[in-house]
Amino acid sequence: MEPFADLLEEAPVMALLVDRDHRVVAANQAARRYFGIDPQRLPLHVAEVTREARLDELLRQGRPEGEARLTHSQRVVTSKLVPGPVSGQTLVFLTDVTELRRLQTVRQEFVANLAHELKTPLTALRLAAESLGSNRFAERIVIEADRLSAIVDNLRQLAEIEAGRAVVERSPVEVDAVVREVTQHAAGRPVQVTVSQGLMVDADRAKLAQALGNLLDNAAKFSPPGSPIELHAEPVDGEVRITVRDHGLGISPEHWDRVFERFYKVDPARSREVPGTGLGLAIVKHLVLLQGGRVWTEAAPGGGQVFGLALPSS
Ligand code: ADP
Repeated sequence: MEPFADLLEEAPVMALLVDRDHRVVAANQAARRYFGIDPQRLPLHVAEVTREARLDELLRQGRPEGEARLTHSQRVVTSKLVPGPVSGQTLVFLTDVTELRRLQTVRQEFVANLAHELKTPLTALRLAAESLGSNRFAERIVIEADRLSAIVDNLRQLAEIEAGRAVVERSPVEVDAVVREVTQHAAGRPVQVTVSQGLMVDADRAKLAQALGNLLDNAAKFSPPGSPIELHAEPVDGEVRITVRDHGLGISPEHWDRVFERFYKVDPARSREVPGTGLGLAIVKHLVLLQGGRVWTEAAPGGGQVFGLALPSS
């Protein structure tokens, strides 16, 4: 234990050892500096150490991970709680993320402003190209202007969601109705639908429709023309699982987590032939998380890829 305690003393992360009454019994160097703790005066209640109630609240909630804005110092810290060496004690690791959060806000605002500013010239460009009449180059400009507009729209939507500005309106939604709506315009590809009768989900209807629309678009984009796309929905353990399956080349497992990151493309060379923004799945993931659900992808038995989303049952 001793050498480990020594290591904690020097660690770049703040560590507080707190007893069951939320009194700080030990603090490493980083924490002492940050909060100006005099080790001679310990134990002290955590609210006394930090001069406010926020960290005490985090301890009371007992969540393994949390985040608090310290009103006293205008700083933001994240916390990780782990059981301490003695029963009843908790080891609290704190990281100051004030600057990180500030930069995230700057980035979000930058993207939102950029998207807004690009909208007008893009519309003008498209109109100008259209007025050139039908020739190969003018058509090319219209296509590329549309692609740019799609990227800009997606970026704006992602920035809005990440900034916590997206409005979620959840209500009981009939899965069959949403599925019928989205499969009507699924990139002109017939979709084989199997949905349990009367299946209801607790969701934001428009966001669910957009997420499914994106998955169907991808299924059509990344599989041979004419090959079937299957959409299946069923209740499992208090949630509704909806999967979209294609018969394309699939994705090798090492990419499965990363395809949900923004701008991630499995095969950039192939993606050049299949236009896309690389933002579709990032949006799907955010839309589903906003509704309290989760997303995943896996190999389809016999070839092709499955993309799934699960939402709470209604
Ligand atoms: P894009 O606009 O490029 O489709 P996405 O975020 O929707 O962006 O997808 C990210 C990448 O994941 C795609 O570029 C593609 O490489 C891969 N991908 C997505 N869906 C499928 C699928 N059904 N089959 C194979 N690859 C897929």
